Amino acid sequence: MPRAVLCLNVGSSSLKFAAYDAAAAGRPRLFGGKVEGLGGALRLLAHDAAGALVEDRKTGDAGQADAALRLVFDWMASRAEPVDLVGVGHRVVHGGGRYVDPVVVDDAVLAELERFDALAPLHQPYNLAAIRAVTGLHPALPQVACFDTAFHHTIAPVAARLPLPRAWHDRGVRRYGFHGLSYAYLARTLAGGTHGAVGRRVLAAHLGSGASLCAMVDGASLDTTMGFTALDGLMMGTRPGSLDPGVVLYLQAAGMAPAELEDLLYRRSGLLGVSGISADMRVLEASAAPEAREAIDLFVWRTVREAGGLVAAMGGLDTLVFTAGIGENSPGVRAAICERLAYAGVRLDPLANREQRESLHADDSRVKILRIPTDEERMIADETLARLAPEGAGEGA
Ligand code: AMP
Repeated sequence: MPRAVLCLNVGSSSLKFAAYDAAAAGRPRLFGGKVEGLGGALRLLAHDAAGALVEDRKTGDAGQADAALRLVFDWMASRAEPVDLVGVGHRVVHGGGRYVDPVVVDDAVLAELERFDALAPLHQPYNLAAIRAVTGLHPALPQVACFDTAFHHTIAPVAARLPLPRAWHDRGVRRYGFHGLSYAYLARTLAGGTHGAVGRRVLAAHLGSGASLCAMVDGASLDTTMGFTALDGLMMGTRPGSLDPGVVLYLQAAGMAPAELEDLLYRRSGLLGVSGISADMRVLEASAAPEAREAIDLFVWRTVREAGGLVAAMGGLDTLVFTAGIGENSPGVRAAICERLAYAGVRLDPLANREQRESLHADDSRVKILRIPTDEERMIADETLARLAPEGAGEGA
């Protein structure tokens, strides 16, 4: 029976899972999938190592993370070749100022992490619910929390500070940054050399339903667009990104309750709010409605503005990397962003872009442009195994 690590990435509506062989060289992926529909009827979709769909199971009853995990564990036990789990790794969005390295979760750690629920209401409570659910099913199984904030512990002190009275900074009101597992994966991939020399200054664009940019210098985060919470920075599927705080004060004064404000800022703004149609870039790109075009144009505009700030922070740009749902799959958005970054030496090869190749720059581009599919689960697997068996660290792909 292969010894495996199970990686979980649980959000408000879905649970993504993947298992990797803990013992074989390169830690190959064994299977993966997701449970959709948390809060309602659940649907498990599982894929084998080659990506072929091997299970499509639905439940009649509504369920949350615990029911979704039962579905995953039941399916794993029913496989022809069950696995022997050595541990479970979780994506935990917020580690606050305290947690940088992956940590084995116990009651004290869990209580500490619950304090950050309000800082990431779309993610943290669901991440922690998954940890509790695994404990309920398999109390003896070690669980490791891997933090989305961790990669940004290197950001410049000046980038971490918010211009508020010092006492608030000392109480943790500062910029942390997110999507760190994705950026850590990109940094490791670039350092691996398969993309050739990338220079010192890399701008990574994680453009998915959550979206951010990271300025990496020599493989470490110098600054990033998300801050204290995952609301800051770029426009996203349902979040506005950077917003004049005066707007929040105005809405409050107009009578909006905190829960309504949270709903507006986390679930009803961004692409969805501006288009009034959808948070999904595919739907907007296929739509003829002027509001859909306006939402895409604003997404591009805000990305280019924030990119300019980070290029300035790095003192120039050597490589631009696109990743996540939109970054990996939308030639239109990539082209629009690159066109507006021409001043920085960015020149896209239109054919390479349309064909979704890995290298997207034109021959005369001063800046290398790459499209690298991110793999947060792989990062969780490697961090979890390194934490559980430090002597095996570094075996990962
Ligand atoms: P992620 O959060 O990384 O899974 O990204 C999800 C988002 O990626 C979706 O909401 C879509 O907006 C976007 N996306 C996925 N596939 C495509 C595609 N082929 N073209 C444009 N956008 C896409």
